[in-house]
Amino acid sequence: MRKIDFIVLHCTATPQDTRPEAIQRYWKENLKWKSPGYHYLIQASGHVIQLATEDRICNGVAGHNANSIHVSYIGGVDADNKPADNRTEAQRKAICELVTELKYQYPQAQILGHRDFPFVKKACPSFDARKEFKDL
Ligand SMILES: [Zn+2]
Repeated sequence: MRKIDFIVLHCTATPQDTRPEAIQRYWKENLKWKSPGYHYLIQASGHVIQLATEDRICNGVAGHNANSIHVSYIGGVDADNKPADNRTEAQRKAICELVTELKYQYPQAQILGHRDFPFVKKACPSFDARKEFKDL
């Protein structure tokens, strides 16, 4: 079992209706990644897709992947590609349920947004994950 220190929230920074297959193709073909960017991907409908089992290491935050589980919702930017918390109600609910379950499974893990790691120059996940999940 991996030691999990971080449950990390992300957004895909793509339109909300981006197909999961397109995101996976981008990782594979453009970035040449052998592993997915996230363990879980949450569609606007609230549907949760598991892209990797939790024992695998994903590419969510450079330098912080060995001990992290990555959760992302599809969206997070407006029509001008500016950061925007445009999670649907269904996504909020699904994220909350999933993060609650993960925190139960990894009680010692800290819940953070991608942007909360040092030297990260992104707005990802376009909301304050620490604040939102501070009571978990
Ligand atoms: Zn991210």
